[in-house]
Amino acid sequence: MTGERLPAGLLVFERGWLSSNNILFRGTESSAIVDSGYATHAEQTVDLVEVALQGRSLDTLLNTHLHSDHCGGNSALQAVYPGLQTLIPPGQAHLVSPWDPSALTYVPTGQLCPQYQFTGVITPGCEIELADKLWQIHAAPGHDPDSVILFEPQSRTLISADALWESGFGVVFPELEGSNAFDEVAATFDLIENLAPRTVIPGHGPVFGYRPQVLASARQRLNAFVNNPSRHAHHAAKVLLKFKLLEQQKLLFVDFLEWARRTSYFQQIREAFFASIPFEDWVAQLTAELERSAVARRDGDLILNA
Ligand SMILES: [Zn+2]
Repeated sequence: MTGERLPAGLLVFERGWLSSNNILFRGTESSAIVDSGYATHAEQTVDLVEVALQGRSLDTLLNTHLHSDHCGGNSALQAVYPGLQTLIPPGQAHLVSPWDPSALTYVPTGQLCPQYQFTGVITPGCEIELADKLWQIHAAPGHDPDSVILFEPQSRTLISADALWESGFGVVFPELEGSNAFDEVAATFDLIENLAPRTVIPGHGPVFGYRPQVLASARQRLNAFVNNPSRHAHHAAKVLLKFKLLEQQKLLFVDFLEWARRTSYFQQIREAFFASIPFEDWVAQLTAELERSAVARRDGDLILNA
């Protein structure tokens, strides 16, 4: 929930960082939700939706992109609302049916995402009615090549997914896979600047009032990554480790290491950027940095989320 002014009928469930925020639309005729959070929070997502809808059904589910923290509640919502229309960006629809958890990144990131169905796509350049207002769908590649963001021009409200947060933006995953995508991140920033939003509902963190400083800092951060891509890779590896800690809360350090060893993104990042450091030393070094930033804690054989 938020102090920022939001269009009527729109409700934001601000979640932790493991789950994306969920945006619920209650219109006169129909209801919809944007993004469904992470799998381990799916029950809570369903509860939040049920309470807010007060007996009404949920008609439409939209995903800004198909990362596990944005789609992990899809399956649970589909089970509770059998008539639910599920709309996804078109770029990866062929990976959802037939289900390809590797290409959808759930396997290489070592993350969970129960299988879900989709019934249609949200095509960039089109509009969709949500809570009685028309929302523009814009392509927003960078963090994910097929991500979309949504914009409502009357209230100038932007649903920015992981393209822009109040402080920063999501890991640029294609860069970890050897594709150039920093330019796409920059182009998406330009798009957002041209839309001139008043209020931004990000994929993670609080709703915020837009001011130029937000994009200025994001561009500065992006430039640091462009000038030194290994800095981005290092950051990404820490994000993936922290995500696992958020999911598990605590586990044996040997199991944590073993999970990282089996998770192909870590192998890929190390080989591309840090090949001179042995795998175990590299993960230990990243973990020590997480500890120093007070977002992880070691206790005997255990590693804990902090
Ligand atoms: Zn994402």
